[in-house]
Amino acid sequence: MPMSDGFRQRLTPNLPQIAAHFGTPFHIYDETGIRQTVRTLFAAFDGLPFREFFAVKALPNPHILRILAEEGCGFDCSSVPELVLARQIGAPPQNILFTSNNTTSEEFAAALADGGSWLNLDDAALLARLPRVPDAISFRMNPGSETGNTIIGRPEEAKFGIPREALADAYRAAQALGIQRFGLHQMVVSNERDAEAHLASVALLCDVARQIQEMLGHSLDFINIGGGLGIPYRPDDAPLNLGTLATGIRALWSDFPQTQLFMESGRYVTGPHGVLVTRVINRKTSYRQYVGVDASMSALMRPGMYGAYHHVDVLGAPPDSSTEVVDVVGSLCENNDKFAVQRALPITQPGDLLLIQDTGAHGHSMGFNYNGRLRPQELLLRADGRVERIRRAETLDDYFATLHDVDAALWQNP
Ligand SMILES: *Cc1c(COP(=O)(O)O)cnc(C)c1O
Repeated sequence: MPMSDGFRQRLTPNLPQIAAHFGTPFHIYDETGIRQTVRTLFAAFDGLPFREFFAVKALPNPHILRILAEEGCGFDCSSVPELVLARQIGAPPQNILFTSNNTTSEEFAAALADGGSWLNLDDAALLARLPRVPDAISFRMNPGSETGNTIIGRPEEAKFGIPREALADAYRAAQALGIQRFGLHQMVVSNERDAEAHLASVALLCDVARQIQEMLGHSLDFINIGGGLGIPYRPDDAPLNLGTLATGIRALWSDFPQTQLFMESGRYVTGPHGVLVTRVINRKTSYRQYVGVDASMSALMRPGMYGAYHHVDVLGAPPDSSTEVVDVVGSLCENNDKFAVQRALPITQPGDLLLIQDTGAHGHSMGFNYNGRLRPQELLLRADGRVERIRRAETLDDYFATLHDVDAALWQNP
């Protein structure tokens, strides 16, 4: 199931009042569900030297990051703003991992400032960009033709990572610089719910790790298996069997007694614990039936960008309501501004509230301002039932902010 029963029970009885109080649209996140999922994740890997570095890009809101930090997560950052966010909520250097690609010297300097963090390098040539010799680094492996799935694509076409054959030279170059502690990283599957598919890619990573250890003459400090744990977006999707995954990894880890297990999950941790609440504002009949809502793809890109499915519920519709087949659309001048295409939904009227589910990861954060569409507010349903606004909606002033103070910036041919 997309939205958990618990979240539904915590949210829906008060949703009309919450929507009236804050106005629509908004993403709302469930503190209780997020904490439960993190605890389930840590429990599954209990006994292993396991660390989760939450992929900040999934839900870069400091109020959420604070909850995750309280639950013991570190943070996987890929840009300077993400580093700043992690530091602002007080994450110490050992809880920050910097993974990027096509990285500049300035970004490495920012990552290594403040005592530094775990650095994950996407190419050996980037060693020359480091402002100083870090304590520990990992390299990201691109396994070539062996694995992959639709969001990340075929590894040999992906811009990420270092080909397997080139890894040994990369570690040698790092050793030559005086770096002594190493890890190995891979992130080749995304939104994968098949534990066996994850295990196949972790097994391959472990094979390569053994070869690297042999070459280095000592153990790797950590192996980072990346994120990519999938969630059921469709009602009939089977959830990932975390127990199977953890059991398989435990078996592989018996060969790595000295090595920490890093994971950088985003979607799995927060994805199911957010919904986009939007109000129906128009109905239209043309060659199809359209339900127009007050959110646009500026609030949620995934359907338009990947054709991703997000389950939609109509608040208060009885289970036996008669349905109609509709496209649920926003207001952007782009025909892919649709939250659902040819979906059977209970018949709606303007004023009805829709819950577009599983927006807790790669939802608000992927939003953009094309067509002058402003991004919506984010709310947090606290464990005690209160609802806090944790990000306001964008305003016209935000939209125009980058046009201010540009007058002095002029070049002309002398
Ligand atoms: C996006 C990303 C993740 C998180 O992916 P999820 O699918 O949200 O688990 C982890 N690691 C890296 C390097 C990423 O780019």
